[in-house]
Amino acid sequence: MAIDLSSAAQAYQRLGVKPVINATGSVTKYGGTRTRPEVMEVMAGAARIMVNVDELNRKAGEEIARITGAEAGFVCSGAAGGLVLQAAACIAGKDPVKMRRLPDTTGMKREIIIQNMHRFPYEQAYRAGGAKLVEIGDSRYSHPWELEGAIGENTAAVAFLCAPLTNRRAIPLPQVCEIAHSRGVPVIVDAASMLPPRENLKRYLADGADMVAFSGGKGIRGPQGTGILCGRADLIEAAAAHANPAQFLGRPMKVAKEEIVGLITALNMFVEEDEDAEMRAYAAMAQQVVDALSEVPGLDVTLMHDKHDYLIPHALLRFSEDWRGPSKNEITKAMEEGELPIYLHQLGQPEELAVDPLNLTQEETTIVIQRLREELTR
Ligand SMILES: *Cc1c(COP(=O)(O)O)cnc(C)c1O
Repeated sequence: MAIDLSSAAQAYQRLGVKPVINATGSVTKYGGTRTRPEVMEVMAGAARIMVNVDELNRKAGEEIARITGAEAGFVCSGAAGGLVLQAAACIAGKDPVKMRRLPDTTGMKREIIIQNMHRFPYEQAYRAGGAKLVEIGDSRYSHPWELEGAIGENTAAVAFLCAPLTNRRAIPLPQVCEIAHSRGVPVIVDAASMLPPRENLKRYLADGADMVAFSGGKGIRGPQGTGILCGRADLIEAAAAHANPAQFLGRPMKVAKEEIVGLITALNMFVEEDEDAEMRAYAAMAQQVVDALSEVPGLDVTLMHDKHDYLIPHALLRFSEDWRGPSKNEITKAMEEGELPIYLHQLGQPEELAVDPLNLTQEETTIVIQRLREELTR
């Protein structure tokens, strides 16, 4: 579909909002990702056709189950909305009396165990679903016996975070699942930003997870407000019971009919793509940055691509001890405050910056390189 970019730009312009260059990946604050044009086309049509949303949810769930290999699936409002539903499903199940009582959890098991190394701002979504978080371990260690000791009669679930640049000394997912399952406790996973690689669609379930949340608006490039829940049939059924269109805890996190079909369209396109070709294209863009900056004295520039922290190829800039130029903060500020604001990836070590090509066009990559050169050699 030919999208009229000039009228789109005007809509932002009328509000006085200026476009930015997002070299930091699928970060919602800087636009998330570019929704696939084919998805927008399907959504434009689907918005005009009335359907029964319960039926649509059920059929979309079956499609998610087919693609992820899970028993069941559900389209939720972003991965964050999925976390609220995970908590609600584990705490209240699909007992209408308990469902109606939420967020008051009187008389319900409500503790969700989380390793210290997995604590993150999104955990508030679990609390929004009624959970009380119980922490185990510290920032350097957590031991299987700590998990065993924390599980008790008020345990509703164990939460597990899968995210880039997360401390990998936490108890691994398969072991967490083994311990939790031996006590009849489900394991709920947040893997919002772990796609691609596509193999992760099935990986956490294979490791034993009972419910997994993915973002629909990140690597899949579906509607920005959507997410995916997949996992055990009884838990997914409970999560769906709390959600739109039913009038329970999940109702304020509505997903529209056209977003549901849009997400399924995007997911199908995502799994059919050639991942090697996609990665080669990102690597070629990141390599342009590496080549352009490799001569800057005191700066080490490398192409990073691995299964943990840099899921798509990045250009990593590391300021060495010999760096004599402006500080990382000065460079970041100058890039963000330029005429055309540029946001770089900041999540690595304090002396590192990175360029994530996920959202960059060739034209934007050239601008990023030119602006980086200016600020690095100032
Ligand atoms: C992005 C992200 C979320 C939120 O995902 P949305 O689809 O934007 O709601 C939750 N958890 C983690 C770890 C994330 O990276």
